[in-house]
Amino acid sequence: MKKGRHHSLATRLKMSLDRQGANHPLYGKHWSEETRAKIVKALTGRIGKRGPQNPLFGRHLSIETRKKLSECRSGEKSPRYGKPMHENARKALLKSHLGKHDSKETLEKRSKSLRAAFLNPEIRKKRSLAVIGPKNPNWKGGKNFEPYAPEFNIVLKKQIRLRDKYSCRLCNLPENSHAHPVHHIDYDKKNNLEENLITLCPNCHSLTNAHREQWTNFFQGVLK
Ligand SMILES: [Zn+2]
Repeated sequence: MKKGRHHSLATRLKMSLDRQGANHPLYGKHWSEETRAKIVKALTGRIGKRGPQNPLFGRHLSIETRKKLSECRSGEKSPRYGKPMHENARKALLKSHLGKHDSKETLEKRSKSLRAAFLNPEIRKKRSLAVIGPKNPNWKGGKNFEPYAPEFNIVLKKQIRLRDKYSCRLCNLPENSHAHPVHHIDYDKKNNLEENLITLCPNCHSLTNAHREQWTNFFQGVLK
């Protein structure tokens, strides 16, 4: 039993009987209110004793017994199941966690370094580049899913969208809450020259999957 935890009297009685089973003089017997009160009193006196005065002092339960006890008291079977944690127990738990893992200092340090990384443009750029190409979880490989060249980054796409006034160059639809995709006119994702890039709305962009040659000629004409 954990230090500081108390069983209800009924549980203590039951445990006492369980321990001794058929050898217990009261095993299987029913007793009167009076007898019950006597037993309760006797057990309270005995089990309530701590340290050397307790008859169980110095005795160790086998691992198996401990496991059994723990199993029959866990989850729904626990007398505390569904009840809010005792205030002191909650405080002790909180304290032990704070001490063991994340001290206030550690937490502050971590939050500081996260904030610094977020505000540092160098680190942000590095991270943004780190997920372009094969490292990106969305990269599927293969000819039609070639990785974008490193220079085809957020900044470049933004430049093209700015040039195209944040509107689709095919149907003139302006961007709303989402940035329009930037299309590679010759379908070569490594060719990131400005004249090979054009802003399209998602609808028009999906049209460019078919009739590639015609679209290439068409958009090259648009940008001339
Ligand atoms: Zn469009």
